[in-house]
Amino acid sequence: MQTHPTLIIGAGLTGLSCAYHLGHDYLLVEKEDEPGGIVRTRNRHGGFLCDGTGHWLHLRNPAMQALVNKLLPGQLVEHERKAMVHLRGVFTPYPFQANTYGLPREVVLDCLLGLLKARHPEDFGLAAPAAPPRNFRESVERLFGEGICKNFMAPYNEKLMAVKLEEISASYADRFIPRPSLEDVVKGTLGFSRESLGYNAKFVYPREGGISALPRALAKAIPVPPRYETTVTRVDVGKKTATLSTGESIRFRNLVNTMPLKNFVDIVTDAPARIRAAAAKLRATTVHYFDIGVRGPGDAASRHHWIYFPEPDYVFYRVGSYSAVHAGAAPPGCRSYYVEMSGGDAVGLLSRPDELKARVLADLKRARVLSAKDEVLFMELCNIPHAYVIYDEHYEPCRKEILDYLGGNGIQSGGRWGGWNYGGMEDALLEGLQAAQRSA
Ligand SMILES: Cc1cc2nc3c(=O)[nH]c(=O)nc-3n(C[C@H](O)[C@H](O)[C@H](O)COP(=O)(O)OP(=O)(O)OC[C@H]3O[C@@H](n4cnc5c(N)ncnc54)[C@H](O)[C@@H]3O)c2cc1C
Repeated sequence: MQTHPTLIIGAGLTGLSCAYHLGHDYLLVEKEDEPGGIVRTRNRHGGFLCDGTGHWLHLRNPAMQALVNKLLPGQLVEHERKAMVHLRGVFTPYPFQANTYGLPREVVLDCLLGLLKARHPEDFGLAAPAAPPRNFRESVERLFGEGICKNFMAPYNEKLMAVKLEEISASYADRFIPRPSLEDVVKGTLGFSRESLGYNAKFVYPREGGISALPRALAKAIPVPPRYETTVTRVDVGKKTATLSTGESIRFRNLVNTMPLKNFVDIVTDAPARIRAAAAKLRATTVHYFDIGVRGPGDAASRHHWIYFPEPDYVFYRVGSYSAVHAGAAPPGCRSYYVEMSGGDAVGLLSRPDELKARVLADLKRARVLSAKDEVLFMELCNIPHAYVIYDEHYEPCRKEILDYLGGNGIQSGGRWGGWNYGGMEDALLEGLQAAQRSA
């Protein structure tokens, strides 16, 4: 049996960052033949660079900024978000809550009045709520009012997560939701929009190689390369041993897991029944997406970075364009898209891929993302199994019970899926650093 002070499961950004910051005495095991997890660029159809849906880098933490700049010196290009919301046939700038200009007047009125009532209930003879919000719907209604909730927040988030807002906890996605001032809202209602609201108003992206450039640079920078095409199949928490798909047994002092928490509990052979029961209650939404490459002139909405589609008569909830951000992502004269689907009509059509493709193309043309003159070169359907974890009533207690049990046995589980949360790439890098500090 081999002994390693730290065993790291998974060479996504969290596992790679952990190895990088440990610098020695680790074994990093990855089941795929490349690093990065879903942060991975596929070269499709000879020259279309498709990341696992849009992966744009939002760096706020100075240490992580320094790390990424060191890994990709001079290679990061800054972009200003060009994101839109499509509702009632109208495109308005994202975020919806601050940009209702151009929508039908009754929608604008509904949204503006709703927001004013939520922020200043006393002016409308209403009482301010006495108790904290019980769920995400109440939370959104109190922040933005009933009109914004009804027209955008509820339909969009329910389409994305395929569950009702009432099932989701009040604090869900807190830090990701832009909160415009009244001044921003009034300006956005009258068409003086300020697009730079929110956490992702600016982002960076590698000049070459797609988003894979980041995990590849990290994998190169670590002293011991990952063991690729090797899966950790079993972990005995009590004995501190793991079994690999190669048949090897590993003894470890620390274990850092980054595979999805729910699946990790499945391979812990000595997990108590209460931990298995808690893991069974963790829920997540699967995202299905098409990577699409086209050649042709495009239409009015072809060059937005990404567009939100809250309405149920569009089969997708979001459409983004790799090539609109980074022209090098598609060959000359071509464009590339990722079309994301989760709940709604998409679910029923998954078993009939040709119908689903036809529906996606028809909806893209109706939304003027594609034109009739565009030639579709390829459409590749992929999925992300646990894309968005669902913050329902079981989320906090079950996650805590599992993480406490693992932590009590010297095991850290982190990253977006290992920690079962809603984090971005920067969080993954940061959690890798923190796991290394705790393992050292
Ligand atoms: C639709 C979508 C869009 C996103 N867009 C953005 C964005 O624009 N910007 C942003 O910052 N973030 C974005 N993210 C978040 C980002 O993808 C994650 O934060 C990041 O990928 C998390 O990395 P990780 O290392 O924690 O997990 P992963 O990348 O999943 O790493 C885990 C690794 O473990 C490996 N593994 C699993 N099981 C085993 C096993 N048994 N043995 C060995 N290896 C195993 C996997 O192959 C994988 O490589 C998005 C996420 C989604 C779902």
